[in-house]
Amino acid sequence: MIIPVSMEEMWDTTKVLLTQLTHFKRRNRIKRYGLPIILICIIFLIKHFSHGLLGDNSAFLLVSFIVAASSWYGGLGPGIFATFLSAILTYFVFLQVDAKTHPFIGDITVIVIFIFEGLMISIASEARHQVEDQKDEFIAFIAHELKNPLAAIKGFSGLILKIAERNQFDRIEHYSQRISTQSDKILELINDLLDITRIEIGKFSYVHTFFPMQDIVSEVVLHQRIIAQNRTIELRGKSKSLLYGDKYRIGQVITNLLTNALKYSPETKKIIVRMTENKKAVFVSVQDYGLGITSKEQRKIFDRYYRARSIEKGKSEGVGIGLFISQQIIHHHKGSIWVKSTEGKGSTFYFMLPVAKS
Ligand code: ADP
Repeated sequence: MIIPVSMEEMWDTTKVLLTQLTHFKRRNRIKRYGLPIILICIIFLIKHFSHGLLGDNSAFLLVSFIVAASSWYGGLGPGIFATFLSAILTYFVFLQVDAKTHPFIGDITVIVIFIFEGLMISIASEARHQVEDQKDEFIAFIAHELKNPLAAIKGFSGLILKIAERNQFDRIEHYSQRISTQSDKILELINDLLDITRIEIGKFSYVHTFFPMQDIVSEVVLHQRIIAQNRTIELRGKSKSLLYGDKYRIGQVITNLLTNALKYSPETKKIIVRMTENKKAVFVSVQDYGLGITSKEQRKIFDRYYRARSIEKGKSEGVGIGLFISQQIIHHHKGSIWVKSTEGKGSTFYFMLPVAKS
């Protein structure tokens, strides 16, 4: 009996297969390096037994397939391994068949080009593997970060119920406050998650208006002073310049720098926010006297999902995307963002935005 397979079913199966293929995981070493060897043997046998069927030029097509499949499956190491195995096979087995038509120098040139191409494919696949690994780590971390405040909210609301039953209304305010703080943490995480997804799919939107930089900086500082009442946040300098851009997004950058400064410095130390300007640009900096960042890590902290090693994972909240999002926003406004830091002494984050031509 012939089972009718509709186009729709076929498309669904294809989608499942493609999804499985793209969600590869780093396999163990035997499988990663075993694949190129098995493929080389298969292609050698195909070429050997069907020489008439597959033309001489098919050799490069077939070995290119080995390199692409091996690096896709295993990453950089297996990709390079497959490239060299394929180059040896092609030079000593396939090209020698046509020794008369392929002069020696020509063969070497072709092999060198092939090795170069193989290395490029392997490097690109490795980069993809790394992004996938970081993404998995990020999702696991987000799930963990969401779990803690949710558990706290559940606990506090249970307490409120019990207290209400006993008519102890004075304690309700205290626990409601803690529920609100924990809910803010969840909201912050979800907003970060939404922003990074929007950036990745190219839908991170901006609403441009003219606005004074002074207003945004003062607003954010005031807001953070209310949230972190036990901390000292100094605001120095003034700016009269008008900027043209998304004031909400610029506020998001200042908030991120300020919350980082609060997060990564002890409660006893103050934070200083400075504003300066010249005819062309406005400069804002946020200085803390906290952990600081090693010079090696300073180059990476603006990368997506990156968290410095000195930050004990799980000890302080954060998922490593705030600075990445901030950098995207500043670059969109044709500005720049950078950091100066000394490990153990503190950090100063700076950003510069061009003044609007009015
Ligand atoms: P996170 O949510 O982890 O804070 P960010 O992208 O905002 O993500 O920051 C990336 C990393 O840069 C942080 O995990 C931390 O290691 C480091 N970092 C950022 N700001 C500071 C700071 N003021 N002091 C020390 N380290 C910082």
